[in-house]
Amino acid sequence: MLNGLKGLGVTLRGALRSKVTAEYPKEHLPLEKRFMGFPALTWDAARDEPYCTGCMVCVRYCPTQCMSARMQDNPKFAEGDSHRKKIIESFEINLGRCILCGICVDVCNFDAIEMSHEHERSERLRNANRVDLPALLKMGRRYQDEVGWKQSKPNPASPNEREAAKTAAEPAISGTSGEPRDQEGSSPPEKPGEDAA
Ligand code: SF4
Ligand code: SF4
Repeated sequence: MLNGLKGLGVTLRGALRSKVTAEYPKEHLPLEKRFMGFPALTWDAARDEPYCTGCMVCVRYCPTQCMSARMQDNPKFAEGDSHRKKIIESFEINLGRCILCGICVDVCNFDAIEMSHEHERSERLRNANRVDLPALLKMGRRYQDEVGWKQSKPNPASPNEREAAKTAAEPAISGTSGEPRDQEGSSPPEKPGEDAA
């Protein structure tokens, strides 16, 4: 009898607890910031271009070989507006074959790829989940906005920025070099014994 009442108490406590599940797909639980969905490419808002240079390191390390990438010369570098000599031309990930291992993110040296929050991408056809560069960048930008993403280190200066910094520094340099120099102080000290010679 006592055990029966104890069991009933456990059942009642369980029934009154607030629920922790959701009726997916009608309801969606909020995702944790560190949730790992499909990989996506990040966008460098400061340079208005992708971070990805198309270096292919992630492509070579991907265990399922579901990625492909092609690089091109960066026209913005030629104009002096970017520090990236090369930039991505085309990129594709077959998300149907991606195992969400995160290796591509770990090996990228350019902050160019992240495991986004994207996870609802089921398709009926085996090959229907091939995602191209614009779609990967769209996923990446959405992820960056969601988590307030920040790059790990600041961009190096672009050729134009280096030039501007040099021009800004010039008046200060010429100001100091244009000062009349103290003739006495600027002459080299006489060596001992020179007078005698
Ligand atoms: S995502 Fe990173 S590792 Fe992959 S091609 Fe772009 S820059 Fe290279
Ligand atoms: S998460 Fe893993 S399987 Fe998916 S694209 Fe990156 S390296 Fe390949």
